Amino acid sequence: MENKFEVLQLEKTEATCRLCEDFAENALKSKTTAIVGCDGACVQGEIARRIANHLAYNKNPDEYARICLGSAITKDTGQRNLIRNLKNIVVIEGCSVKCGSRLVKAVAPRTDIKVELISSYCDWDKSLFGMNEISHAELEKIATEGADNYYNKRVITAEKSSCCG
Ligand code: SF4
Repeated sequence: MENKFEVLQLEKTEATCRLCEDFAENALKSKTTAIVGCDGACVQGEIARRIANHLAYNKNPDEYARICLGSAITKDTGQRNLIRNLKNIVVIEGCSVKCGSRLVKAVAPRTDIKVELISSYCDWDKSLFGMNEISHAELEKIATEGADNYYNKRVITAEKSSCCG
């Protein structure tokens, strides 16, 4: 039978960030929803990152906790605690490779992860790859509209990305 999992060896660290742990401790008591972005380095990943930021910091800061994906995946501390224990979890994915939700599942094996592809909420020039191919102002406009569409449940029909199957 085909093995559908990769087994990785992840170096542990004793290092910690007090500000991050304080944030997580407070968020666990006061917020309902973990907001994760795939945080990719291409245009799609950057749009996902910005949409996650807009949701958590502008749309519903009382309920949404913006998750630091690297910390949640690599350390068993506050951020992981949030993706395991907040009532809801939303992962904004830049493309169908879905790195964010696959990472989350590795440490938070829950069945209620809401996976949201940015192509359902915003449109952009799908021929672009690097962030140097688009202005920050344009990226911000796309992400702001995308966050707005997501928050107001407006799904759009956009041309599919040609880069990810
Ligand atoms: S989901 Fe797509 S855009 Fe996001 S990190 Fe993975 S490959 Fe990059």
